[in-house]
Amino acid sequence: MPRARVVTLNAALGPLDYRVPDGMSVEPGSVVIAPLGPRQLIGVAWEADRLQTEEVGDNRLRPLAGLVDVPPIPAPLRRLCEWTADYYLSPIAAVLRMVLSTSAALAGPRQLIEYRPTGDKPARLTPQRLQALARIEGRQGTIRELAAHAEVSDAVMRGLVNAGALERVEVDADQPYPEPGPDFAPPALNAEQQAASASLTATVGQGFDPVLLDGVTGSGKTEVYFEAIAEAVRQEKQVLVLLPEIALTEPFLTRFTARFGCEPVTWHSDLRSSQRRRAWRAIASGEARVVVGARSSLFLPYANLGLIVVDEAHEPSFKQEEGVQYHARDVAVMRGHFEEIPVILASATPAIETRNMVDIGRYRELKLTERHGLAELPEIRAIDLTRDPPQRGRWLAPSLVTEIEANLAAGEQSLLFLNRRGFAPLTLCRTCGHRFQCPNCTAWMVEHRLMHRLACHHCGHVMPPPKNCPECGEEESLVACGPGVERIADEVADLFPEARTSIVTSDTIWSPARAAEFVHAMEAGEIDIVVGTQLVTKGYHFPNLTLVGVVDADLGLQGGDLRAAERSFQQIQQVAGRAGRGDKPGRVLVQTHDPEAPVIAALVSGDAPGFYAAETDARRDAAMPPFGRLAAIIVSSEDKAQAESVARRIGNAAPTIEGMAVFGPAPAPLAMLRGRHRQRLLVHAARKLDVQDVIRDWLGALEWSSKVRVAVDVDPYSF
Ligand code: ADP
Ligand code: ZN
Repeated sequence: MPRARVVTLNAALGPLDYRVPDGMSVEPGSVVIAPLGPRQLIGVAWEADRLQTEEVGDNRLRPLAGLVDVPPIPAPLRRLCEWTADYYLSPIAAVLRMVLSTSAALAGPRQLIEYRPTGDKPARLTPQRLQALARIEGRQGTIRELAAHAEVSDAVMRGLVNAGALERVEVDADQPYPEPGPDFAPPALNAEQQAASASLTATVGQGFDPVLLDGVTGSGKTEVYFEAIAEAVRQEKQVLVLLPEIALTEPFLTRFTARFGCEPVTWHSDLRSSQRRRAWRAIASGEARVVVGARSSLFLPYANLGLIVVDEAHEPSFKQEEGVQYHARDVAVMRGHFEEIPVILASATPAIETRNMVDIGRYRELKLTERHGLAELPEIRAIDLTRDPPQRGRWLAPSLVTEIEANLAAGEQSLLFLNRRGFAPLTLCRTCGHRFQCPNCTAWMVEHRLMHRLACHHCGHVMPPPKNCPECGEEESLVACGPGVERIADEVADLFPEARTSIVTSDTIWSPARAAEFVHAMEAGEIDIVVGTQLVTKGYHFPNLTLVGVVDADLGLQGGDLRAAERSFQQIQQVAGRAGRGDKPGRVLVQTHDPEAPVIAALVSGDAPGFYAAETDARRDAAMPPFGRLAAIIVSSEDKAQAESVARRIGNAAPTIEGMAVFGPAPAPLAMLRGRHRQRLLVHAARKLDVQDVIRDWLGALEWSSKVRVAVDVDPYSF
């Protein structure tokens, strides 16, 4: 009797066997409908010899209920699912959910509602309406897409619909996407770019080839990997470009369109189900040629993938911290391995792990050492806050203020970087010392003055700004401690009342449309001073931005995390990389209490290789990643005692294995998160040890209440 082994999307279930009814043709990868009790589950048929399950006799098998009309999930992707499940100790069903993308892809509506200009002018023409109509001439798209393109709010677009200036069009959700033109507008590359581009285009179509494209900020990494994309398109293959933030999508689309004549297909969490369905199906059929997306686009079922690009490959946001805790950079390379295609990791500040792969000969490296054109790398100087302190209650040193003033006078733009949202990270009662803490997390409530509230940055809990101290009842006794970007913006407004200042954080730039607005305002010279968090450190190219001030370079070094120095170096190097990208030279001032700290010294002297070498040696001496392995076991429960007791039991059951040590349990770095108490065990193992196998056996032999959650973070980002 024909049988099929099926992985369903229900992560609580293992693979299940079914009978294949007469006339249904099921092969490995087929997307099927599998009955379970009274329910129907979506699942994927799998090679029976690759997944174990309880054997069930023929007579007890239920028949499959149907086949879903999509192409089978290709074999290389099935291998990737198996690898990901194994490596990150996750149920394969949880990985498969990312492939089928919550099955909206399969069942989303067929009709897509779009709008296009009718040519009629509305009776009332506001400046915004004029701008909108001018920008969307000849375009068609959803309200959101058109609004993003025209840089107006959705409401303006809806107003135009009501006024008859836009008409509704029903689009078949399965209609084809435009084809990028590989020869639409090729750039004139400089010699160094030309060499890198030739090497990349030559490797497309030639099998697995992981390449680190290591180019200083502004060297033209994007221009260079665009040529590899063009080659893949010429070979009629698909390309995936992974970006770390959806905020970077809009500028990317603009550049892509300039080079290839049309937009790529986008994939991110903001898509509506009809768009998701259309994109998913075009990806699965091979018709979507170039796809740009966040990390979740990595697991989509490309029919004919020819190249993967991971841009800003060092970015921590590629690490998923919930559900399947995978690192998209590493899984991208594995996907390249199974698909037998090249993978380009582009970065000006590669992770130590990535550099090490180059050192041991696993990845190739292509270098771009100079900025394109007349642009020079900016000069970086430290401001010693112990010698040049800001005034009381201020955060900007006099020498930085002088530089900003000079920059304003010269009509050039400045950027002040502080990686802290809100006004102040802590609110304190002067009388009794009470501090405002989140009731659900081990974290202070951060004051957001613009939004008139205190907010927890971990669980989103908010409260109105208090007037009196809840502890001692004293009035007017609360003080804000420390600066966030809003406070720096206040200081700037005090110092330079005429300057036009803009705050850039995830609070102000929450969508691709807002990001596009910001980019245009910068390009039009409507902003003099930007105060921003890490959101402004990546990807952007503003030629008139010539001064960068790092408000607190010591911030990232607190906390004793072993990756702190590397992350700090990357962040400051990236933000410095925003300065002087045009033909005017840039300068970077870094405020610190410790100019001798290795990170600061390396930034100032420009000795990135020296910094990397020292960090790498330190990691090697301590057998820390990539020279040793780490895995964190996080035990959480709403009941503190229960979390502690399960964690202790896990600790007591730890196997004794040469080359492995278990630390803890101890309270996790965020000891309470969203109302759950968290304990952590840290497993440190030699590189050669199959630490996942050990943990699987170890945890597999234990049981705990369903109120306790045990999650394993393999290769944790912070350690
Ligand atoms: P990176 O990604 O390395 O920071 P980009 O690819 O963003 O660098 O390039 C920086 C700027 O220089 C961009 O505005 C880009 O268009 C421009 N540029 C780079 N190379 C060339 C080239 N060969 N011809 C024209 N412009 C270029
Ligand atoms: Zn909280």
